[in-house]
Amino acid sequence: MILAYHRINPWYPDDALSVTPEMFESQVKFLLDKGYKPVSLYQYIEERSFTNRFCVTFDDGFADNYFFAYPVIKKYNIRPTIFLIAHFIGTEKIYNKYKDKEKDRYLKWKEVQEMLRSNVDFGSHTLSHPDLTVLDRKHAWDEIFESKKFIQKNIGRKIDFFCYPYGKQNKKIRDMVKNAGYTGAVVTNWKGDFDIYALPRIGIYGHNSFFVFRVKIWRAKFLTKKFFS
Ligand SMILES: [Zn+2]
Repeated sequence: MILAYHRINPWYPDDALSVTPEMFESQVKFLLDKGYKPVSLYQYIEERSFTNRFCVTFDDGFADNYFFAYPVIKKYNIRPTIFLIAHFIGTEKIYNKYKDKEKDRYLKWKEVQEMLRSNVDFGSHTLSHPDLTVLDRKHAWDEIFESKKFIQKNIGRKIDFFCYPYGKQNKKIRDMVKNAGYTGAVVTNWKGDFDIYALPRIGIYGHNSFFVFRVKIWRAKFLTKKFFS
């Protein structure tokens, strides 16, 4: 199963996108204790043994992934993928619902570089986080293809996975992602048929209690079996 997080920090108990570092650590520990093996997205696809594997993903590339998730990632030796909004990395841009220049900023390239050396993978979440399904063809292609090139240039490594902003995608967009040279792409909702360019994930949110988390894992195990069979 693939888990989808956004932010990890102790600052915003009422923010759906923010999971506390303690909660994140207990969730990772729970999966490991239950015998789930942590894998990278690439291994997840390669090994084709989906029900007893887990892969952690983070959307958007918030700096708190480096401050608070990275220590947990190293401690438990997991292999997550962080999906970067290419043109927001290393800038002073702040997502409109947040305010703080340091707490709410996006990652810097040197933080990305450091995490890369500790088994963290990176993927593309477009250049500027638009709803791809409402853009004209050329604009959508640039968001998909140029973001891949831009991140690759900045990290010196191939980018294999893509994540659709707001989970918005359709056949035309999935085909573009494929033609741009990605190996696969992730969504958050469970759809019917298997598609490597619409790999389902379980969204984990700040308001999810530990009990809700366990129910989501239990349900995901069942759905994963169905999805990949
Ligand atoms: Zn996003």
